[in-house]
Amino acid sequence: MVSKKEHIAERQRLNYENNKDAILMQQKERYNKIKIRLTNKNMDLDIVEKKKRFNARSYARKTPLKKECGICKTTERLERHHWDYNKPLLVSTLCNQCHEIQHIRNFGGSKFG
Ligand SMILES: [Zn+2]
Ligand SMILES: [Zn+2]
Repeated sequence: MVSKKEHIAERQRLNYENNKDAILMQQKERYNKIKIRLTNKNMDLDIVEKKKRFNARSYARKTPLKKECGICKTTERLERHHWDYNKPLLVSTLCNQCHEIQHIRNFGGSKFG
């Protein structure tokens, strides 16, 4: 005599055997959907970050360069530098060299900012 529980388990097993491909496909689809959602999330983050940079740069364009580097006071090869993209108004005038040093120290050598 087969118990009810065993009977259900057997049916489930048979169901799985018969629909293996469909079930696997469903699982794959579900997995892909989650993956896409996660990817979109990352992309959103990226867009936010890019927008921040874009905003910071457009602020920077409106900020006139000072006559000298904010660190070494040289008047040659001056560039704008953002200390923090979350503070787009905080723009400094730095010479090419000081700028590079700041980026190595604070941005891991990134060219942005
Ligand atoms: Zn300098
Ligand atoms: Zn910079």
